[in-house]
Amino acid sequence: MDFEFTPEQEEKREDFTAFCKEEAKRAPEGWIGGMAAEETDEGWAYHRSVVEKVAAKGWLCLPWPKEYGGQGHGPIEQLIFSEVAAYYRVPAIPMHFMTVAAGILMYGSEEQKKEWLPKMARAEINWAEGLSEPNAGSDLAALTTTAIADGDDYVINGQKVWTSGAHRADHIFILARTDPNLPRHKGLTFFVNRIGPGIEFRPLIFMNRSHLYNETFIDDFRVSKRNIIGKLNQGWYVMMAGRNFARANISLAAAGKRDLEDLIEYCKQTQEGGEFLAKKPLIRQRLADFVIDYEAALKFAYHVCWLQTKGKDVAAEAAACGYYANELNLRLANTAMEIMGLYGTLKGGSKWAPFCGKFQELSQWSSGFTIAGGTTEIRKNVIAWTGLGLPRD
Ligand SMILES: Cc1cc2nc3c(=O)[nH]c(=O)nc-3n(C[C@H](O)[C@H](O)[C@H](O)COP(=O)(O)OP(=O)(O)OC[C@H]3O[C@@H](n4cnc5c(N)ncnc54)[C@H](O)[C@@H]3O)c2cc1C
Repeated sequence: MDFEFTPEQEEKREDFTAFCKEEAKRAPEGWIGGMAAEETDEGWAYHRSVVEKVAAKGWLCLPWPKEYGGQGHGPIEQLIFSEVAAYYRVPAIPMHFMTVAAGILMYGSEEQKKEWLPKMARAEINWAEGLSEPNAGSDLAALTTTAIADGDDYVINGQKVWTSGAHRADHIFILARTDPNLPRHKGLTFFVNRIGPGIEFRPLIFMNRSHLYNETFIDDFRVSKRNIIGKLNQGWYVMMAGRNFARANISLAAAGKRDLEDLIEYCKQTQEGGEFLAKKPLIRQRLADFVIDYEAALKFAYHVCWLQTKGKDVAAEAAACGYYANELNLRLANTAMEIMGLYGTLKGGSKWAPFCGKFQELSQWSSGFTIAGGTTEIRKNVIAWTGLGLPRD
């Protein structure tokens, strides 16, 4: 890593840790963190109560300028908070918050920053992300949702898919085609708006039977021209600002590190054939490998953030960082289930399920995370094109 934490940053880490340890004690029974907040009413109430406290402390937006409700710290402080919250499984940051904030901070007008950011800093907005469509995921520029000018508004029509947490959201950001005659990614515009008439969400039940995702049907949804972030037909760049930020997400590595510690504890306490699992050489070696991998993943996230503070284009590094942590979490979950045998496949609710069924849930979520926000293959493409300068196919 190319930097050291300052004494002030270390002090902040202690504050964050003390807060998160306390909040973790209030978690609903059987809480396993991750995506559980949107899944149940109880999880959602817990999430909202934590977020309101975090907002009151000014920790949702540590690096934002003070005039928009921020604290004027650096992005490293924000990363420390995200790391600590994820490690303690405290659902402290609203979904899509960082993605849309990055777009508004980089491309919003002064008026838009003053309108949207303070409300977000006070945790008054829950966002849904309306980007992917049934025929536009990896190839997002193929999207067909249209926005057509009508007086002071744009009227949006189309369909989005995999809209995470939308059934809990009150606002949505949408990427829509505003000029079909321009090259594909140049005719798109980024809209933000309160969810209202013309938007319908239908549950898209995930493979673990939970309701986290949705299909979104958009039928004559009116959005004021004032709610275009960035310029007309320049929405691709607003979206990419958020994507790069999201791809380097440290929460993945921090949450995984905590899960690894649970697995190590399980191996210390569980016997098989009269021998503790932690004594078996193969298991010990695999656990040791994971310890190294998670340390590397955490350092990598800080490295990407540090490069961002130096004004570097981090598209390739952010893609690599998210790819590494996502694949690592999937590998950890599957290894845990192998070690636990049939017990590892039990869902929470069974008295025999280790860690309330955490690892079988993680195995299903993690495979989704290797797709969300850019699949592993797409991230590798970004590394090849942007990082290594290899030709596009
Ligand atoms: C858990 C989850 C949450 C999500 N949340 C949201 C959300 O809140 N909002 C939202 O808008 N979207 C969301 N998404 C959608 C997500 O962004 C897309 O699923 C993702 O971009 C992949 O698109 P796709 O599903 O259409 O797959 P496709 O693009 O059809 O890809 C299918 C396969 O082909 C591979 N592939 C495609 N193109 C290439 C290429 N050029 N080179 C190499 N391989 C390629 C892919 O890697 C993949 O393996 C979510 C998805 C998941 C799984």
